[in-house]
Amino acid sequence: MKDESALHARGGIITERNTDFATLRLRIPAGVLSACQLRRLADLADGYGDGTVHLTMRQTMEIPHVRPDSFEVIARALEENNTPIGAERDEVVNVIACPGTERCKYANIETIDLARTIDRRVAGIRVPTKVRIAVSGCTYMCNSPLLNEIGIIGRIRPLRTPGLCTGCGTCVEYCRQCAISLRNGVSVLDERRCVQCGICVHSCPYNLLKPEYEHYQIAVGGRRGMEPRVGRELVTVETPEAVVEVVYRIVYWIYRTAWSGRLLADQLDEIGFDAFREGIRKEFAGNEE
Ligand code: SF4
Ligand code: SF4
Ligand code: SF4
Repeated sequence: MKDESALHARGGIITERNTDFATLRLRIPAGVLSACQLRRLADLADGYGDGTVHLTMRQTMEIPHVRPDSFEVIARALEENNTPIGAERDEVVNVIACPGTERCKYANIETIDLARTIDRRVAGIRVPTKVRIAVSGCTYMCNSPLLNEIGIIGRIRPLRTPGLCTGCGTCVEYCRQCAISLRNGVSVLDERRCVQCGICVHSCPYNLLKPEYEHYQIAVGGRRGMEPRVGRELVTVETPEAVVEVVYRIVYWIYRTAWSGRLLADQLDEIGFDAFREGIRKEFAGNEE
């Protein structure tokens, strides 16, 4: 092998219990593959592994049981397949996304292209601690974005069409937050209870509830594992471009400021969330010219 250390430095080559073999982890943002890519992965697992693949928690795939003398050739083949090895060391690991508006009837935002765009912007930045990012199309948060270092959640505010409500009560039934009630024969929203999930908008049989202010909530500092933590809201933005910019700024802040070997949630506790938020704002300010 010509440059084994460079290959290992990229991450994604995980030595197994039997150190004669390694598992190769791939980078597949949002976990979406074409049938063609899938076939190629099957061929590579057959040719260089033990004929199996492993689906991970973070919507990516691993090819187990690969011998070191195959690393270089399989790494090149995976690169050509647009499923490169990676997503394992201290870096932005595989960005995950729920199906979003492409398939889910509850979604408020597109998620899969957003996850891919985020990946393109931040993949490969060398950060001192792992950064996990999840994109959820609505506040049901099926992929637990608040248990990631960066969580993105699509929300909308329901807007009522004045004077036309029949008082049928369908939206009241659908709202899990009990944020809608009937008063004097019309539905009334309690803004304090509303989590802006948008479900009521789809529920009205007369189409009297409209989506207003589609936006992205960005939370920071969550984690899974032994001591799970729930991420805290950092900012709300209105466009996917702004999401990508905020994510980049957070990752850049981590690159410049965070310590190695410690999870972001702990570091936010130590420096204080307000100080962190201020730091991110300064990063933005530095970008405004
Ligand atoms: S988080 Fe919302 S949009 Fe995404 S899959 Fe779940 S219900 Fe659908
Ligand atoms: S947006 Fe969601 S939480 Fe708010 S009123 Fe509608 S159903 Fe309830
Ligand atoms: S579902 Fe529509 S018509 Fe029925 S109470 Fe709600 S807003 Fe009014």
